[in-house]
Amino acid sequence: MTQPDLSIVIPMYHEERNVPALMERLLNVLRALDATWEVVCVNDGSKDRTAELVRAAQRQESRIVLVDFARNFGQHAAVTAGFAHARGAFIITLDADLQNPPEEIPNLFAQWRLGHDLVNTIRRDRQDTWFRKTASKITNQMVRKMSGIKLNDFGCMLRGYSAEVARQIVRCRESKTFIPALATFFARSPVEIQVGHADRAEGESKYPLHKLLALQLDLITNFSVYPLRLLFAVGMGFAALGVVLGLVLIIGRIIGGDSWSNNGTLTVLGFLLIFCGSQFFAFGLLGEYIGRIFQQVRLREPWVVRAVERVGEADEHPVIESGR
Ligand code: UDP
Ligand code: MG
Repeated sequence: MTQPDLSIVIPMYHEERNVPALMERLLNVLRALDATWEVVCVNDGSKDRTAELVRAAQRQESRIVLVDFARNFGQHAAVTAGFAHARGAFIITLDADLQNPPEEIPNLFAQWRLGHDLVNTIRRDRQDTWFRKTASKITNQMVRKMSGIKLNDFGCMLRGYSAEVARQIVRCRESKTFIPALATFFARSPVEIQVGHADRAEGESKYPLHKLLALQLDLITNFSVYPLRLLFAVGMGFAALGVVLGLVLIIGRIIGGDSWSNNGTLTVLGFLLIFCGSQFFAFGLLGEYIGRIFQQVRLREPWVVRAVERVGEADEHPVIESGR
């Protein structure tokens, strides 16, 4: 089995309206490329005709591989599974909705040929809602500060990874991860280039607000313990405030006598509430980290594949393989 130069990994969730146009544009680009290649489509538990349409494309082009998930495991699990099944020396990930133009592939590949083992991207003229762009800007900045990973754009999924970097990511076995940030940890010689960005061609974004928030939280808590340090500082602040308040009460009691301290009861209650509130906040944040440790020690499968379908290597009995 010879190793192709390039693998394209595409996570797909309910993308039946995009698959035909995506395949056409993608294959045009790849056929013009001076390299050997394969396309690994990961169907992330779509209930529409996504897998069927990939199979139809596969009948025309045998270099297409379908990795069919048993159910929906999320974009990052799908990309990681794609890495696990990709055989190329360089792997490019792409969204299925044509927001990442396949025409940029040669530019990413050229960077690999120049010796970079990770090609990061910044979206030029990003075509998303104002809300998404602002949320991204804030998270990008926070993550940059907290994690020390100096990337301008963490969110763009049009990226290139050497097989080695991809292997490291697969080996991490993190059930909740954020691939671009993780890849930057492993890269020897990363580079960041500008790429085009378009509106989603068809269908709706698969990230409603709650999923988006969960993703941003993953990105922040997975790559930094800064929130815990912040908690420490907040705790210190409140403790200092408590000491000052105690002193004021004692001095007030000495100078003003009994009546003064009685009148202060409500103030004490107020501060007590602040303390309780801050403690709850602290528990919530600690809980978030403990939840992650819990998930990790349970060693749960990050994904379950129903079948891998390659032309010429059809499996009579589909492999039931799991991510771990
Ligand atoms: N996706 C996936 N599993 C999911 C959600 C999304 O495989 O649970 C895929 C989706 O099909 C697309 C890519 O991840 O190819 C990015 O999703 P989307 O375009 O909805 O995200 P947005 O561009 O709105 O951030
Ligand atoms: Mg999209």
